Amino acid sequence: MINRLKKLSPQFRKILKSSSSLANSLGINIYLVGGVVRDLLLRKSVLDLDIVVEGDAILFAKKLADALKSDFSRHHSFGTATINFNGHKIDFATARTEKYSHRGVLPKVSPATLAKDLLRRDFTINAMAISLNKKDYGKLIDLYNGLEDLRGGLIRILHPLSFHDDPTRILRAIRFEQRFSFKIETNTFKLLKEALSQGYLELVGPHRLRDEIIIILKENNPAKYVKRIKKLVGFSFIDKTIKLDKTTFQLFKKIEQAILYYKKRFKKHPKLDTWLLSLAAILIKLSSQQLKRVFHDFGFRKRERDVVCSIKEGINKIKKLEKDIKASNVYIMLKPYSFESIIFFYAYYQSKGLRKNIEYFLQSLVNLQLKIKGRDLKAINLKPETLYGKVLRKTFHSKIDKGLVSKAQELEEAKRIFKRH
Ligand code: ATP
Repeated sequence: MINRLKKLSPQFRKILKSSSSLANSLGINIYLVGGVVRDLLLRKSVLDLDIVVEGDAILFAKKLADALKSDFSRHHSFGTATINFNGHKIDFATARTEKYSHRGVLPKVSPATLAKDLLRRDFTINAMAISLNKKDYGKLIDLYNGLEDLRGGLIRILHPLSFHDDPTRILRAIRFEQRFSFKIETNTFKLLKEALSQGYLELVGPHRLRDEIIIILKENNPAKYVKRIKKLVGFSFIDKTIKLDKTTFQLFKKIEQAILYYKKRFKKHPKLDTWLLSLAAILIKLSSQQLKRVFHDFGFRKRERDVVCSIKEGINKIKKLEKDIKASNVYIMLKPYSFESIIFFYAYYQSKGLRKNIEYFLQSLVNLQLKIKGRDLKAINLKPETLYGKVLRKTFHSKIDKGLVSKAQELEEAKRIFKRH
């Protein structure tokens, strides 16, 4: 694997070398593990590193961070630590075993050897390691035939109770199956279906399910994953009434196109949380009350809830944008919404009129501001001051409709509006 390690960025290589020397001087063993090993073997790019320490990972990471003069943070309850080295993230964990007391909850962990640590993992392709120790630096450690499964394109659990212990692995199996266009191995598939028919997924804490859903919706082409979940699992684990049909998947396509359009056309506008549009596509047919329950139970963040709920509330109102309406009304209608919501509307309605209005808003209105302020009105002695807010707002709408450009034009308009009040 030495050649594969050479493909890592110089920063990552430096960290691995420094880790190796430190482990050697401390007399402990460390290994690169999990997704990074899989991705190196698949020649995919690697963004984060996971290192397992047969010993105290927090202490090890702290010493390394001191040596490299990098940021360090510890997560005591998990026995893990993270180093940030020039924007490169490396997670360190103590090799451990896990014991599951109840299905779906986080397990009790205790320190162990690498072999046991690898055995607790989800699938064989994610249960390989690369030695970072002086004696066999770069050697692939493949105790559970991960390489064979990687070559055969198979997602295979490590023991028959795997889905019973942690049913989120059902969603993870689908995620890796779809991401790599692999197949879920026959026996794993049988056990996955059994776990589903026993209702295991419903027993998982909603926060853990939420994290898996978010990761899935952040993948490229999320519709593919959603289709597979619909077929194998269904979405009743989110809400019993969710029904995805042809129109949902057509909407996913339109969303994908709308996102591409936004990225190409509005390079200076903020980056979208595109996964929120996919979440909205899944949830859009729920009632507002059901939506609120989902966001509450699954513990989504406030902004996530706000974006999706505002799409739900706005979707019918926004239809008015199909008509030829005053420019200031386009502003008034769209300004309250996030960029994500607006792109959702763009995708949802294909009408030329509505799209033209949204395009105009994003192009010319979204960042538009008045040049005059309250103090400019004060300077010319307009009274009473209590009207300033209203007058400035109306002046702004006139600016949009009449195309006022200069500060003088705005001030003239403000004076005119003032007189009318
Ligand atoms: P990605 O490329 O999506 O980041 P990853 O394999 O790195 O994939 P993570 O969720 O970051 O996935 O997990 C890192 C590693 O931890 C996995 O490769 C796997 O070995 C292990 N792991 C993560 N979640 C579970 C789980 N629910 N059960 C068992 N092992 C898991």
